[in-house]
Order: sequence, then structure tokens, then C-alpha cells
Amino acid sequence: MPVGSIAGLGVRLSAQDSLFKDGRLVVWFSCGAASACALKMVAHMNPLAVYCNTARNEHPDNARFRADVEAWTGIRVETISSEKFQDIESVFEHFQYMSNPRGYAHCTTELKKVPRFGFQRADDTHIFGFTTDEMKRLRRFEEDNFDMNLAWPLVQAGMSKADCLKMIADAGIEIPAMYRLGFENNNCLGCVKATSPHY
Ligand code: SF4
Repeated sequence: MPVGSIAGLGVRLSAQDSLFKDGRLVVWFSCGAASACALKMVAHMNPLAVYCNTARNEHPDNARFRADVEAWTGIRVETISSEKFQDIESVFEHFQYMSNPRGYAHCTTELKKVPRFGFQRADDTHIFGFTTDEMKRLRRFEEDNFDMNLAWPLVQAGMSKADCLKMIADAGIEIPAMYRLGFENNNCLGCVKATSPHY
């Protein structure tokens, strides 16, 4: 897979790299610490910051964190939502299904992936909040999404999730409530993909 660069940002170009025309730079902001730091790191490149709407199922403190991150980065976060479902419960009701033991959950597909597919363009470059502790997951994501141009500024900078939490705290921003409550990720309250209490 070829590798390109936008102003020093390493980009894993898609298999269809002829489509890469310095299109939009899109940071997928999840209200997590890592995607907030990724957004800060590329804020000077005028990215689009986009949030897939799972707000009804998240801790209410996320609205505060999102506003703090917008002020910190100077980038307004755009929200995109499912046209069919408002929250994870409506997805469960529709499919009569929550998640399987291998970690597949319709709620991610319907509330996050489907809206993203509707938003993204072939020549976008995408940034997700993957850190150095998630290299296996990152490689799997690259393989599964061979048609996407992907940049990993946190990994490029050698940053772990702990580094991201420190970067947020050092900026004088209170970390999201879910981390303060001991969870590893700032997911929906009671994420159905959880395989441990900390997740
Ligand atoms: S964070 Fe968990 S519960 Fe929420 S949409 Fe994703 S898989 Fe579903």
C-alpha cells in the first residue's frame, strides 16, 4: 500500500490512490481523549471535525468536553446522525439483537458507520483516535478499509492513551467523566461490546 504525505502528516493511501487529490482532511471526533488530541495535532491544517451522534447514550459530561475541545482546537465539531435510529435502544429493538461474542454490534454500524459512509468521499483523508496501544486494531482497520486514505498522527508522534489523557489535563481541560469513573473508553453508558467492567 503506498504512503503519501500532507505537510508532514504520513498518510496510508488507499488502494485507489489515483483518487487522492488532497481532498478533505476529516478527524472523526468521538468525545474520547485520543480523538481530541488527534484533532489538536492537526488543527493547523484546517480539518473537518465530525462526530457520529450517540449523544443520547453517552455521559452528559461529553457535551462539556466537546465544547472545551472546540475552544482548545479552534475547530467546530459537526454532528452527523443516523436517519433511521435515534439511540442504541431503537437499534436493539429493530434488530432484536445487541451484540455477539465476537464483538459485533449493530449499534456501531447503524449509528456510526452508516452515517460516516454517507458523509465520506473517496478522496478524503481520515484520522481516527487510535494510539500506540492499539496497533493490532489499527492494522486490522487498515486491512478492512483498504479503500480509505488513513493518517495516524498520534501513532506518528508515539502517543499512547495515557499520553493523550495527560495532554488533555496539561491543557487545563477536565478529562471526560467516564475516564474519571474508571472506564478505559468514553463509550456509551453500558457499551454492549464490553468484555470487561473497565470497557
Ligand atoms: S459505544 Fe458500544 S453501545 Fe455505543 S454504539 Fe458503540 S458498540 Fe454500541
